[in-house]
Amino acid sequence: MSNGRESDTPEQAAESSGRRPPTSFVEQANAADESIYETFETTWPDCWEAAAARLAWDESYDTVLSGDGPPFEWFAGGTLNASYNCLDRHLEAGGKNRVAIKWESRTGDTRVYTYQDLSREVNEFAAGLRELGVEEDDVVTLYMPNIPELPIAMLACARIGAPHNVVFAGLSADALATRLESAESNYLVTCDGYYRRGNPVLLKRKADDARLSVDHDIRETVVVDRLDGDTHLGETQHDYHELVERHAGAAVDPVERAANDCLFLIHTSGTTGEPKKVKHTTGGYLAHVAWTTETVLDLGPADTYLSTANIGWISGHSYVVYGPLAVGSTVVMYEGAPDYPEKDRLWNLVESNAVDVFYTAPTVIRSFMKWGSEYPAAHDLSSLRLLGTVGEPINPRAWEWYHEHVGGGRCPIVDTWWQTETGGMMVTTLPGVDEMKPGSVGRPLPGIDAQVVDASGSECGPNEPGYLVVRRPWPGMPHALLDGTRWADGQSVPADIDGWFYFTGDGARRDDDGYITVLGRVDDVINVSGHRLGTMEVESAIVDVDHVVEAAVVSIDDPQAEGIYAYVTVEADVTGDDATRKRIEDRVRERIGPIAIPEEIVFTPDLPKTRSGKIMRRFLENITNGEDFGDTSTLRNPEVVGELESIVRNRT
Ligand code: ATP
Ligand code: MG
Repeated sequence: MSNGRESDTPEQAAESSGRRPPTSFVEQANAADESIYETFETTWPDCWEAAAARLAWDESYDTVLSGDGPPFEWFAGGTLNASYNCLDRHLEAGGKNRVAIKWESRTGDTRVYTYQDLSREVNEFAAGLRELGVEEDDVVTLYMPNIPELPIAMLACARIGAPHNVVFAGLSADALATRLESAESNYLVTCDGYYRRGNPVLLKRKADDARLSVDHDIRETVVVDRLDGDTHLGETQHDYHELVERHAGAAVDPVERAANDCLFLIHTSGTTGEPKKVKHTTGGYLAHVAWTTETVLDLGPADTYLSTANIGWISGHSYVVYGPLAVGSTVVMYEGAPDYPEKDRLWNLVESNAVDVFYTAPTVIRSFMKWGSEYPAAHDLSSLRLLGTVGEPINPRAWEWYHEHVGGGRCPIVDTWWQTETGGMMVTTLPGVDEMKPGSVGRPLPGIDAQVVDASGSECGPNEPGYLVVRRPWPGMPHALLDGTRWADGQSVPADIDGWFYFTGDGARRDDDGYITVLGRVDDVINVSGHRLGTMEVESAIVDVDHVVEAAVVSIDDPQAEGIYAYVTVEADVTGDDATRKRIEDRVRERIGPIAIPEEIVFTPDLPKTRSGKIMRRFLENITNGEDFGDTSTLRNPEVVGELESIVRNRT
């Protein structure tokens, strides 16, 4: 581990402070030439041919981008198939025996699929879906945990041009029913159940409940047998393995899809409100994720990659399945949780598979910190060469911890800002080109025009907080934005921006050097004595205090008692006391000013989180302000809300 010893040359010292990627990384990076930014800028939108060139097209496109305003179209005239791009072309290029997916069950059994194996089962299941009557453009809903059959089903759908609609397995029967309905989907693939922390979760039961409450007909259901024991299959229900066996050795021609045809439907996480349905394209989306997988995650056919993302969310679609398989990498998947059976589960996986690149989320990194550095320290993580994070702002202390204890002070970190709606990464560093700034995501990627603007659409000055918008189309944009329609939830949009733009819902600030710092959701901005503060700024100051792991701040909604409430978790073996309170207050005063010092600091073992692990501030607002908090079933840990409520009630 580097420690900035005096004997280091200035160059080595800069490297060891972690701000500049090490020369050893830059030398091997897929994108290492600074001129890529300018080249993309001067040749936009044709620059995106570089991304399209990563794919195999059946029919090459006529234009890169058509339309001066909506409707836009990327790669018009082009046709391709996503499953062909993730499978067949690797076989043709001599990669048939390379491992595509290596999956580890909770008990440590592994299943290894070479590209040839994966292709075989995708073809067989595609033939099975056809037997059940699935036709091109029929939506197939996949309600499954992270088991190999999930990517197989996704690619089988892609092969026959049937958009998939993956629903995260942790969601309820009601949530599944809503998503079946909004996608008008008549086909469902699920499994009997799966193990979570050693306990079986009966998924089929939830799927059956959902089926009964859906207004339209679910024609056919396929059930993967994952648990021991028999599963009762009703009349229109089929056993996955039998179906696949019936089509052993089948070859299904990949259906030619127009670039703009739908590859899949997915819903956003629902952190801020009702989840939004998003439809992604085949050509633009795949080009965007393949290109960012190569340049940002620095992956290629020689690499082994591990992500903690669940495939049920966009991060799993883009950077577990489509991106890494499109570039021909080896993907390590695991069943269960990062702390089951032991808190070193992931480090074990990294060591035993010699993982090159690891991608996770700040919430997971904060758990690692809570558990302690002895877990990564007990493993040989020297195969790692790059780390990534996505999903929430990462505070500098968590960044430093990740850099030191997982990356050995050696691996660059990419903090990638993007959304379900953007399909792929938008603002982050190119690890072979850019310096890293902990807490700041980086510059917009080449070709991406992300800006921070005020309510009138003018670009904000350096360090001035504003709205994060995207002012030019990008290949991974979804159908709704191509058509120019707005999201149904009426996201608060800055007033009068001329021309086309997409408002992301996030607040941000651009530093002097053009790096963007995401401040959190615009809806999460808190108002204290007429000052608008981003939740993230205050939280970042709080979690900078030693032993503090996580913090969420909300405002008190009472003109008489205006102020900030801070909910704080500390490391497992420490207790939050008055001394910690004092340190938090001092740090906030020093970093932001007395105005932001919390009125109350509540220590709690946990914070309310979405099923994808994001802090849900709206429940904390309800608790703070004594309001009814309604339905907590969207939370991963609903019990926390009740516990916190009683803590807060007993204080006041
Ligand atoms: P919903 O839109 O339904 O409220 P969601 O926004 O949480 O849910 P996602 O699309 O999964 O759904 O998450 C995207 C959001 O996550 C971004 O808008 C941003 O707020 C946050 N985010 C993602 N990556 C980063 C990052 N690197 N830094 C800061 N915030 C991030
Ligand atoms: Mg969102």
